[in-house]
Amino acid sequence: MQHLISLEGMARERLHALLDRAQHFAGLDPRAAPPTSLAGVHVVNLFFEPSTRTRLSFEIAAHRLGAQVVNFDAERSSTLKGETLADTFRTVEAMGAQLFVVRHSESGACEMLSELAGDGTHIVNAGEGRAAHPTQGLLDMLTIRQFAKRPFEDLSIAIVGDIRHSRVARSDLHALRALGCGDIRVCAPAALLPDADELQGCRVVDAADEAVSGCDVLMTLRLQRERMEDGLVDSLDGYYRDYGIDQRRLSLARADAFVMHPGPMNRGVEIESAVADGPRSAILRQVANGVAVRMAVMEALAG
Ligand code: ASP
Repeated sequence: MQHLISLEGMARERLHALLDRAQHFAGLDPRAAPPTSLAGVHVVNLFFEPSTRTRLSFEIAAHRLGAQVVNFDAERSSTLKGETLADTFRTVEAMGAQLFVVRHSESGACEMLSELAGDGTHIVNAGEGRAAHPTQGLLDMLTIRQFAKRPFEDLSIAIVGDIRHSRVARSDLHALRALGCGDIRVCAPAALLPDADELQGCRVVDAADEAVSGCDVLMTLRLQRERMEDGLVDSLDGYYRDYGIDQRRLSLARADAFVMHPGPMNRGVEIESAVADGPRSAILRQVANGVAVRMAVMEALAG
C-alpha cells in the first residue's frame, strides 16, 4: 500500500489487519519508549480545511512513531498568492518530505496528488470534499469492534443525519459493507440523503425513531453546512425534533447500544448533551482510537 485514498474496494482481511495493528497501538502506554517505525520520515500535514481531531491526532500519531512533523498553514502560505495544490505539493516533496496527510475541500484532490507523487512518497487522505475520510472510517470500525457485543454480520447500525454531504458516512459505508455488516439503516431528510447508487446494501428509513429502534450502534452526523446549498434544512429546531439523538430516542435502541459521532458536535442540533456526555457515548473513544488508527496507517505506508 503506497497511499490511502479511500476505503472503497479495500478487502475485509486488509481492514482487519489494519484494525488489529491499531488495536495493538491502542494498548500501548503513550509514555513508554515509542516505536521508531517512522524514524527519519518527515510527515507533512497539508490541511486546506479546518480540523481539530484529525490534524492533531495525525500529528500525535506521527510523533509516537518517531517521525518529524511539519504543519502547513494554508492561511499563511503561497496558496493565497494563487499557487495551486499540485505546485504546493511538488514544492514540499522537493524538500524531502515523504508522507503527506492531506485535507481538501475538493473530492479527487488526494487521487490527483497520488498520481504526481514519486515512488517513495505517500499520500493519506485526511478528508476530502464529501467523498472520503478513510482514517475516520477505520477508527469508527475499531470503535465498533471494541464496543459491540457481536460480530459485524449480526449488527444493526443506524446512521442518522446529513449523509449526503458526509465523507465520514461514505467511508463508514464502504467499510461496513466490506466487513459484512448485516443491517445498515440510513435516516435523513430526503434532501440530505445521497443518490440511491451510494446506498447499496442500506435500508433507507424515513422516521428516526424507526431507524433507531433495536439498533446496536447509533451513528449521528453533523449538518455539513459548508458543503450544503442554502435552504436544505428549514429549521434547526425541527431538525432536532425529527432527527436529533436525545435520551428518549436512544432509549429505543438496544439496551447495550452505543452512540458515535465523528465530531465536531453541534449540541442541541443533532445530539443532546446528555447523550453526548452520557454512559453510552463512544465519542471520546473514537477520538482516542484516531491516534491508534493513524499510527497503523502511517506505519503501513511508510514504516
Ligand atoms: N470531522 C469530520 C470531517 O471532517 C466530520 C465533520 O466535520 O462533521 O468530515
